[in-house]
Amino acid sequence: MHNFPFDQPGRFWRGNLHTHSTLSDGHLSPGQVAQVYRENGYDFLALTEHFLASYGYPIADTRPFRTPTFTTLIGAELHAGQTELGNLWHVLAVGLPLDFAPTLPGEDGPAIARRALDAGAFVAVAHPYWYTLTEGDVVSLGDVHAIEVYNAVSADYNDRADSWYMLDLMAMRGRRYSACATDDAHFNPNRWDAARGWVWVKSAENTPDALLAALKAGAYYSSTGPAIHDIQVYPRDKAIVRCSPARVFVTGSQFYAASGHGHGLTHVEIDLKNFASPYARITVRDALGRAAWSNPIWLE
Ligand SMILES: [Zn+2]
Ligand SMILES: [Zn+2]
Repeated sequence: MHNFPFDQPGRFWRGNLHTHSTLSDGHLSPGQVAQVYRENGYDFLALTEHFLASYGYPIADTRPFRTPTFTTLIGAELHAGQTELGNLWHVLAVGLPLDFAPTLPGEDGPAIARRALDAGAFVAVAHPYWYTLTEGDVVSLGDVHAIEVYNAVSADYNDRADSWYMLDLMAMRGRRYSACATDDAHFNPNRWDAARGWVWVKSAENTPDALLAALKAGAYYSSTGPAIHDIQVYPRDKAIVRCSPARVFVTGSQFYAASGHGHGLTHVEIDLKNFASPYARITVRDALGRAAWSNPIWLE
């Protein structure tokens, strides 16, 4: 039976992994950004500025914004080289050292992602649909941890917030990534993008080291609203999900799917006897259309 990460010690901590301030192209100062998240009930935040020469390669030092109940992870959105379709790479890196070196001469997206991994970061493919990354692009990044499956700023920018298609395609090819939902907040007053996509990380304590280790292990789920309290998956048998009131779906490779019957479910058992996918992911969707998503659960 699969019960990860609900079987892990500790509790869930809510955080945003992707945010910009006036250190790059955001509209609020770093201190104002931290305040927005503290006041919205978050436990932690990563400020991930655009790591570009034009902004002085900022790695935001957010340590002054930590309080006894709120912490920060050090990160950046890395840029280098060109994707297959000729766009500048966007790579999300959380858990970087403050002295992470600027982009090196000739460095491309995969190379800077590798350097971030070697530096100990949790590395995610940022918003693949937002700039139409190809499968080849994602594969070229190597063994990064996650694919950003929900990017809130893209929802009202180009209607491309949802990148689950890329993660499912990769999973069907046997490549194992976690998923993550983020705001990618810029705080443009005409396009409010804060507190719209986040992760709930299961960890014994709300400290940068503990959160980072849990993120790398995939011990979290993503949400744009609903809560998931427990998921138990018995391969080729059933899934048991406890959550805030919602519809509940199990999605797998190709067309494999299963769902609970009804709306407003808080405890549902779903039959998986005909669910022949090598992986399952759970979606919990509330009456407002907001969703929470498990990471892919590999069933062998
Ligand atoms: Zn980006
Ligand atoms: Zn961004």
